[in-house]
Amino acid sequence: MDVGFQPGGRAPAPAPLDLVQNFVNTEIPDWHRDDIGTPAALDAWLRERGLIGDEDEVDGELFVAARSLRSALRELALANTLERAPSPSRRRAIDEALAVFPMALCLGDDGPSVEPAGIGAVRGLAAVVAAVAAARGDGTWERLKACKQETCGWLFYDASRNRSSSWCSMQICGGREKSRAYRRRHDAVGGA
Ligand SMILES: [Zn+2]
Repeated sequence: MDVGFQPGGRAPAPAPLDLVQNFVNTEIPDWHRDDIGTPAALDAWLRERGLIGDEDEVDGELFVAARSLRSALRELALANTLERAPSPSRRRAIDEALAVFPMALCLGDDGPSVEPAGIGAVRGLAAVVAAVAAARGDGTWERLKACKQETCGWLFYDASRNRSSSWCSMQICGGREKSRAYRRRHDAVGGA
């Protein structure tokens, strides 16, 4: 199954936000799966998307920074789901993870926009961060959410009119949550 798979038949996030969604969904905690689990795998991921050139390489330092970036982006997407900002200490950690990847304000045909800066593989991953800035600008960012089900965390695009989805799929994770709530109520009644 490729990382473009969308539970619940959802449409993927629109470009350029799909880049963020695909990057974070390289890890599926529920399945113990990580598609960029080695520097070589991260190198291949960036290469497949044309984010690095022939001469560029992923070193150990960048590999570690990429993992921190992925966790930070998942946390930000969860903040979209919960409509609650991360705590001040987590905010600092997220800022640090993002700060590794430089941005530049560039003048394009449509006016100024935030673009990835730096060189090599750093610039390749900066493109993922720049996609967040672009999505913030076009109003799609708030719709990129991490599934509320703790062990899932799947990033999905919430296209619902009132932006009310919390689970990647009502059938999969929403159902699990419901059955747990049912058991809790049942236990409470049984124990009374
Ligand atoms: Zn889920």
